[in-house]
Amino acid sequence: MTIDDFNFEDKKALIRVDFNVPLNDAFEVTDTNRIEAAKPTIIKILEDGGSAILMSHLGRPKGKANPDMSLSHIVDTVSEIIGVQVKFVPECVGPQVAEAVEQLQSGEILLLENLRFHAEEEAGDAAFAQQLAQWGDIYVNDAFGTAHRPHASTTIVASHFPGRKCFGYLLAREIDAIQTVMETGEKPVTAILGGAKVSSKITIIENILDKIDHLIIGGGMTYTFVKAQGGTVGDSICEPDKTDLALSILEQARAKGVQVHLPTDVVAADAFDNEAQTRIMPANAIEDGWQGLDAGPQTLEAFKAVILQSRTILWNGPVGVFEMPSFAKGTIAVGNCVAEATSLGAFSLVGGGDSVAAVKQFGFEDKVSYVSTGGGAMLESLEGRTLPGIAAIQEG
Ligand code: AMP
Repeated sequence: MTIDDFNFEDKKALIRVDFNVPLNDAFEVTDTNRIEAAKPTIIKILEDGGSAILMSHLGRPKGKANPDMSLSHIVDTVSEIIGVQVKFVPECVGPQVAEAVEQLQSGEILLLENLRFHAEEEAGDAAFAQQLAQWGDIYVNDAFGTAHRPHASTTIVASHFPGRKCFGYLLAREIDAIQTVMETGEKPVTAILGGAKVSSKITIIENILDKIDHLIIGGGMTYTFVKAQGGTVGDSICEPDKTDLALSILEQARAKGVQVHLPTDVVAADAFDNEAQTRIMPANAIEDGWQGLDAGPQTLEAFKAVILQSRTILWNGPVGVFEMPSFAKGTIAVGNCVAEATSLGAFSLVGGGDSVAAVKQFGFEDKVSYVSTGGGAMLESLEGRTLPGIAAIQEG
């Protein structure tokens, strides 16, 4: 059931949101994205004539109350964004909450205190989840960022709402985007995988090989593949103990008919430094004292051709050290290609890791189909794992 199947009139919706937002030294919210992302769900409930009880974590208080991580700091920001003055209780369970919930009227919003002030939250404690469950008639999970954790508020609480639980709009969009890439997307399907190390992406690669037509490999991962195939990588980042794994990935890809595209040239530098000397070198012949830090021009042309003919695109991981302007060009070029393919009708999902930061930094956010809000949750989804927070809703 989707949220649109429910009418929240006179109902209290218990909503797990992800308001784990960054605060500055004055405890002001410095990035409101996560609050804005939850707005459509909250508005739908209020417009139906219901009330919203919001629960979230903030930071890592490790089971103890910590005033620096109180959700009271975000009340004004949430009120401004939603357009309704939010009420706050300095607890998430107990008699004070019971009273505030009892008094809550249709159209009102109540924000509960940081769930992680109680160790029971992350422990997935059943009694704690049962206490939370008392606060709502319907349970709505709209927190993709924590959907991979079997915590009390994300997973365990859902068992108390048989037939009365659903995903919020944000979580539903995340699930749809993953499904499009993994199952229903138009072919050709292309995955662009970058980032530092092959070891952190191996499970993703093995899971998606059955679902894609093209695999573009970039970033630091490149050099383990280059070394595995007998090339020289100079001082580039490389995992020599993973070369067998790299060869096995290439063999699996061949067997499954997936075309693998590795860099043929790279921007090599004589130091890991934005001001370093740079030279374009063949990806498989990097000289000693030099390291590959970005994709080269020939490589980017080849990547462009593949990306532009793709109908479904997954992008995970930058193709260079994009944090340094001297080595950001490759990642920007890939972003431009993904944006162009999207404007030509492709579906593009950017998710799980630093490619999200890159897409935001370089202004591609509105030019791709979907940018995931959950790092770890997206990575686990791409690895093919069932997320406990999602399963808990789907179990009915
Ligand atoms: P990940 O979190 O696995 O997506 O890795 C992202 C990190 O990989 C970023 O911080 C990039 O700077 C880094 N990275 C990308 N390309 C390279 C490279 N050629 N050498 C070293 N680090 C790289």
